[in-house]
Amino acid sequence: MDFHAHSFLTDGATSPTEMWNEAEALDHRALALTDHLALEDPKPLLDRLHQEAAAWEGTEFLPLVGVELTKLPARRIAETARACRRAGAEIVIVHGETIVEHVPAGTNHAAIDSGEVDVLAHPGLLSPADAALARANGVVLEISARRGHALCNGRVVRLAVEAGAELVVDSDAHAVDQLVPLEQARRIALGAGVVEAELEKVLFATPESLVRRLSRRR
Ligand SMILES: [Zn+2]
Ligand SMILES: [Zn+2]
Repeated sequence: MDFHAHSFLTDGATSPTEMWNEAEALDHRALALTDHLALEDPKPLLDRLHQEAAAWEGTEFLPLVGVELTKLPARRIAETARACRRAGAEIVIVHGETIVEHVPAGTNHAAIDSGEVDVLAHPGLLSPADAALARANGVVLEISARRGHALCNGRVVRLAVEAGAELVVDSDAHAVDQLVPLEQARRIALGAGVVEAELEKVLFATPESLVRRLSRRR
């Protein structure tokens, strides 16, 4: 399962249908398309994703429709996440404070504190206090497969494990060939410092519990 990827509706290279087709071919049970959004109306993006997701109705594959709130003022994150849910987002993730871009300071904390965000993507120099708050608020922290964003995976894993916060591996794919097969996700998790005994939790148990939580939110 993969909770973070993009289509050509924002800065990805391929259509939502093509991304979901490829994820299904890789035997993923779910792929969330989380195209970038800031303060603009989320409805056109979400409507288009839902329209393409409808092709999988009645199948085993779960095409999740979502957004990645990206570089908006931190104080607007909570209300924007709520607006996205009202407009049909099944999952809301936030573009965290990666060290390879200028992300507004306070984004990590606002996302975790909002009570409206499911996954904090590539949290960069995550603070121990925010890792603890992620655990308390049930916000899942991301191990990123994407170059650049992945530079801080080791810190994210260490602080998440110390705090007891949940982790997933996400591709952040912007094209079909950037989707991550399960075996590669396993290696990325191990490389980021997840120990063998925790692998099952990161690769299976947490994604499954996240899918259950998302379906209850609907
Ligand atoms: Zn991002
Ligand atoms: Zn992304």
